[in-house]
Amino acid sequence: MTETAIELVGVNKWYGTFHVLKDINLTVETGQKVVICGPSGSGKSTVVRCINRLEEHQKGQILVDGVELTNDAASVNRIRSEVGMVFQQFNLFPHLTVLDNLTLGPVKARGLTKKEAEERARHYLERVHIPDQAEKRPGQLSGGQQQRVAIARSLCMEPKVLLFDEPTSALDPEMISEVLDVMVDLANEGMTMVVVTHEMGFARKVADNMIFMDAGEIVEHGPPEEFFGAPRSERCQKFLSQIL
Ligand code: ADP
Ligand code: MG
Repeated sequence: MTETAIELVGVNKWYGTFHVLKDINLTVETGQKVVICGPSGSGKSTVVRCINRLEEHQKGQILVDGVELTNDAASVNRIRSEVGMVFQQFNLFPHLTVLDNLTLGPVKARGLTKKEAEERARHYLERVHIPDQAEKRPGQLSGGQQQRVAIARSLCMEPKVLLFDEPTSALDPEMISEVLDVMVDLANEGMTMVVVTHEMGFARKVADNMIFMDAGEIVEHGPPEEFFGAPRSERCQKFLSQIL
């Protein structure tokens, strides 16, 4: 991977006439962890969805590993193979076992044999501390376990970058830390991560760069010490005072 994992340059996006992203500039170096926060509706999900091309931007450039995102299928496939995503709602296949959820991608998209994919799946289930849940279906697991399965599923594709969109927002409070602990481990192992979250304890622990978005703009960014110590803008101060 190049030194710069992700770069957004003057990115703008509209939903119809609604200007949802306004001149977004963002650089994520390889190995860095960027945490994005901001009020509901500020465009956080749209940014991360644009990075893995679940959404299209209309103006500006997004580069992943030095290659610009365009509409050609090769570019989209390349992004999907390098960038993993973990969603708020887990998005596991309910009718498949945990193991089959994990082996599907590597077999279909990576050409692994079933046996290779299973070995890999068990390895990553171990890493998220649920090796004993492989034969269950998602519905038989707690929310925290399901989200850890979703993280393991992303890891099975061996991505270079992981995007997280409010991965703990749908969880009961007592399950949040078991998911955050796994994410902290990943961060410490050097994974490049972009994380939308309001878990500021996690952010303080791992973030290299904090981003505050409001109304489609990056209003404030900087290292956590600076960001939490002395937010410059009133909007950011107000937001932090509400969630901290
Ligand atoms: P956040 O993740 O910060 O809550 P989103 O990126 O989901 O914000 O949404 C930003 C804004 O764009 C919101 O006003 C939302 O209603 C709007 N929006 C999101 N997705 C769509 C869509 N598919 N079509 C139209 N508007 C959308
Ligand atoms: Mg969102």
